[in-house]
Order: sequence, then C-alpha cells, then structure tokens
Amino acid sequence: MSARVLVVDDVPANVRLLEAKLTAEYFDVVTASSGEEALTLIATNPPDIVLLDVMMPQMDGFEVCTRIKREPRTAHLPVVMVTALSDSSDRVRGLEAGADDFLTKPVNDLALFARVRSLVRLKMIMDEWRLREETCGQFDLLSTTASLDADDGSNARILIVEKNAIAAGKIVETLKEAGHRAVAVGSSAAALDHGRTEPFDLIAISLTSGNDDGLRLCSHLRSQDETRQVPILLIVDESDTARLIKGLDIGANDYLVKPIDRNELIARVRTQVRRRRYQDRLRANYERSLSLALTDSLTGLYNRRYMTRHLEALVQRMRESGKPLSVMLFDIDRFKAINDTYGHPVGDEVLRRIAQCVTANVRSFDMVARFGGEEFVVLMPDTSTEVAVGVAERLRDRIAAEPIVVPGCPDPLQVTVSIGIAAASPLDRPDDLLRRADAAMYKAKAGGRNRTVAAGSPVQDPSQASATVQPVR
Ligand code: GH3
Ligand code: MG
Ligand code: MG
Repeated sequence: MSARVLVVDDVPANVRLLEAKLTAEYFDVVTASSGEEALTLIATNPPDIVLLDVMMPQMDGFEVCTRIKREPRTAHLPVVMVTALSDSSDRVRGLEAGADDFLTKPVNDLALFARVRSLVRLKMIMDEWRLREETCGQFDLLSTTASLDADDGSNARILIVEKNAIAAGKIVETLKEAGHRAVAVGSSAAALDHGRTEPFDLIAISLTSGNDDGLRLCSHLRSQDETRQVPILLIVDESDTARLIKGLDIGANDYLVKPIDRNELIARVRTQVRRRRYQDRLRANYERSLSLALTDSLTGLYNRRYMTRHLEALVQRMRESGKPLSVMLFDIDRFKAINDTYGHPVGDEVLRRIAQCVTANVRSFDMVARFGGEEFVVLMPDTSTEVAVGVAERLRDRIAAEPIVVPGCPDPLQVTVSIGIAAASPLDRPDDLLRRADAAMYKAKAGGRNRTVAAGSPVQDPSQASATVQPVR
C-alpha cells in the first residue's frame, strides 16, 4: 500500500526524522513546517494522512486539525497528532478537534506505522463509497449527500468484551453516563454470539487481564458478515505494543491504553461511532440511488433508462452472434377510463398486477421494463419474430382472460393490451427498434385494440411496415 503522508512540524530535525522512517517503510512523504503551509498543501494536493505536530508558532496543531475537519472537502482526511504533551486533557482536546489519534513523543515506530496503515486503509474504503455516491449524484438521484457531522455519535449500542468484571463494570458505567447503551460479556464466544444477533455500533475488546484470544476474536469479528463493519476498539496495557500492532493490522479501528481515561474513552467511542454511521449512510444512499437509477418504484420493473442501455448491449451482441432479437412493446387499452372511474390508486394497482403477470409469463432472461405511463417493454434475446408473436399472444390472452380484482374496487376489471413486436436488424440503433415496435403497437390500437401486430423487417421490405396482424375477437 503506497500512501502519501504529510508530516507537519516546525522543527526541521523532527520532520527529517519522521520522513526518513516513513520513507524506509515505503510511504510517500511530503512535509510542511507550519500550519499555514500544511493547509495550502492539503487544499492543492491532498495526502492520504496527516501527521501533525501540536506545538507550533502562529497556528498550533489543534487549530490546523479543526480547520481540516471543518472543511467538507478534507473532513475525511485522517489526522494523527504527534506531540510531547502527555496530559490526558490534551489528548482529549486533540480528539475533540477531530484528530483520529494522538501519539506521544517519543513515538514508538511500529505503533505509528501500524496506525498509519490502518487509518489509510479505512480512508480508502471511505473514498470508494464517497466516489460511488458522487457518481450517483451525477445522475441527479441524490438530493441529500451524507455528511460526517450529521450525527453526534450519541446513543450507541456498545459491546464490551472484558474478563475482569470490575473493569467491565466501570467501562459500562462511564458509557452509560455518556448516554450510550452498553453491555459487557466475559468471553469471546459470548461476544461472537452477541455480535451475530444484535446490531452494535462498536465493540470494545480488552486485551489485558490474560485475554489471550482477544486478537482471535478480533479477526473472527472481521470475517463474520454481521460484524465485518462494526468498529473495534482495543483496550491494551501500555507495555503491550506487539499485540496492539497485530490488532490494528487485523482490522481494529482504534485503541485505548490502560489505565483508561474516562474522557478519552468517551471521545474515541464518539469518533468511531460517528464514522461508522457516516459510512452506513453512504452505503444506504448508494444502494437506494442505485435502485432508483435502475428500477421503477411503482412496479419494481427495470426503468426505461436501464432498459435502453441494456438494449444497446443486446443489439451489439445480436450483431456479433447473428441470433435474432425481438422487442415487444405494449400499452394498456383505455387505461385512462380505469383512472377516471375508480381513481388513480386503483390504476396503480392495475399497473402492478400487469407487471407481475408479464414477468410470470416470459422467460427469466427476457427483460421486462416499464417504458413509461401504462406502456411496457419486453426484450427477448435469441427470439425470432414468430416466437415473439407467440409469446405476445399468450400474454395478451392471459391478461384479457383474467379480470383484475382490486381490493376496495367494486368491479372486477377487464383489462386488455395492444402489442407491437419488432425484430432487430444489424443496423438498428435501440431507438429505431423501439420506434418500430411503437408504430406496430399503434397499428394494433388502430386495428381495434386487444391484438398483436408485428412490424415488417425495415431492411428487406421497407414499403410494407406491418406484416403479421393477429386480430382476436
Ligand atoms: P389507449 O387505449 O389509446 O391506450 O387509451 P388510454 O386511455 O390507455 O391512453 P391515454 O394515453 O389517453 O391514457 C393513459 C393514462 O395512463 C393517462 C395517465 O394518467 C395514466 N397513467 C400514466 N401513468 C400512470 C400511473 O403511474 N398510475 C396511474 N394510475 N395512471 C397512470
Ligand atoms: Mg393506453
Ligand atoms: Mg399510452
């Protein structure tokens, strides 16, 4: 993983030292010697992570961090504060300014690298989701963009895994006072069980008091679908750097060193919970907009935009394979009368029922789409005109034969459809093909409705646009 690290420190020797260490670990390093310089660099060429000194003249690290996190374009950039200040109130102040971590000088190199790697990994995941959200945004499908500070990280469901009941009790107490819902368990087995059945916003795992399988639990939680995305906070003894590094590499998101500082616990929990919820919102937005982009909300069928795109691919494939491709386009007869007589909601229900009926009466690889209003399209690959007409007639019969009974509507509704069929020719663009199917459908309307008309091949016989007319009744 090659990540771009920005090192900010006003003391040149510190900058060079960190630069040398990180470069040796194959990180790509850029440097700044003041807060102003760092902000300019971040605005013009954003790094993947910022290592930020706290004590600097003019603008100190707290201020720089606050500005990075306040600016929506850079709020997602991980910031690690590196400082000689060891007071826990400074640490909490850093976390509250939005820092993702607060390391005390002299910094343990391995811990630093592990931290940088895990934060960069997380950023890459978040970048991917934000990119997808942006793509959806380009389709004008998202009215609200998720934002990191839309949630204050309160009222979270937290699971604590700690063998020592007294220590567990203290953590639960602190978190409850901070407005969270916390439960503690004493074993990894119980934690896995809980994690599978209850949705947690965070799982805190203590690696102290002889909890040897805490790391194994961490990796199990990461491999189990239900808990893969839940942030993990490790609780470690100060001397246990080796297991901490292992934990961060396995996928833990953050850690606390014992003895636990109450405010630091609350600040770190809040950071993780907010980030998790932000990520959930991004994913939910993305999935919602994807389905908005591809399907019709009333019937659940593919929409016109998606169908047209798919038709392009099918025509291309038909050109290559030489196999026939047919398009069926149909329109409900006198649909306006149903709306006018029984109301729009009854009309909606009819559309849904017709959609179900079509889907049930074509092959699984035929694509059914709502073309607009009360018009539907079925794309039928590997299907000749003759076969397509047969499918259309069967469908038309089925719809005409079974009046639709809508709850709350006094009469069973006798619904019929008029169908147009067109076969693709190699020179067709999707629009040409749909236009011919539409013209055939209008012929069916003009011919008395409740019938199927197949358009003649435009290449072989341009003078005769319609061929097979199959009036029924
Ligand atoms: P024809 O046999 O010539 O097709 O007559 P028609 O009444 O079906 O055709 P027209 O185009 O005059 O009317 C179509 C109606 O479909 C008008 C429109 O309000 C209605 N419609 C379009 N979309 C929806 C919808 O989503 N729900 C409902 N309930 N009605 C819709
Ligand atoms: Mg109609
Ligand atoms: Mg119509």
